[in-house]
Amino acid sequence: MAATAPFIAGNWKMHGLCAQLDQLRILADGLANHPSPARVAVCPPATLLAQAAHMLMGSRVELGGQDCHCEASGAFTGDISAEMLADTGARLVILGHSERRTLHGETDAMVSAKVVASLRARLEPIVCVGEHREDREAGRAAPVVEGQLAASLPDRLAGARFSVAYEPVWAIGSGVTPSSDEIADVHDAIRRVLRARFGEQGARVRILYGGSVKPDNAAEILRIAEVGGALVGGASLAAADFLEIIAAA
Ligand code: PEP
Repeated sequence: MAATAPFIAGNWKMHGLCAQLDQLRILADGLANHPSPARVAVCPPATLLAQAAHMLMGSRVELGGQDCHCEASGAFTGDISAEMLADTGARLVILGHSERRTLHGETDAMVSAKVVASLRARLEPIVCVGEHREDREAGRAAPVVEGQLAASLPDRLAGARFSVAYEPVWAIGSGVTPSSDEIADVHDAIRRVLRARFGEQGARVRILYGGSVKPDNAAEILRIAEVGGALVGGASLAAADFLEIIAAA
């Protein structure tokens, strides 16, 4: 069963200098002028979080980071802890994004440790899972995702607020999306895992779809049972596009 208000989260990835903060202002103004039932968040680069938090104070737009280290502090040059993200005003964090898994060798165990860290810092995690094209072609999409979930979701999530984002790797940034049936099948599988693991709580966790969500396909994707929102990359960079996706929710 999909949760009530859809959750639309934007992942800016490594895009955005100070000048792009204007887009957040346009987004916040747009939501104020055209209220939507959707919960809305943006995860800009960590360098923009503090300024963004200041700018968005009093708005409906929540802020998140895109990754965190599992330790609170230490000799980890270049890394950012969950506590540091929270200190900027972020309330959420994306963890286990396929670009982290693929380009930075993050394993399920590392993702799980980061989820624990996010909870320690009172950040709400969005945990990403998704199959590679070869898995999909071999008919292994659901089992791969089930395996990622089993190992990436720590028991500590019991009673905590979190979301899962299903992001087929081959759909990210490609302009190609799975069919509605394919999305529905994997979301159903994720729901079964969440229910089995977390009971009633697992029935309410939002399961977001991510991968080439655009203004012209958002309504169709968001209508699919068990799709409780979207994690949006490229189309979240321009406030006008992101607002259109939110309007479809
Ligand atoms: C993402 O990076 O999480 C994503 C879904 O990207 P895009 O929407 O650009 O495919």
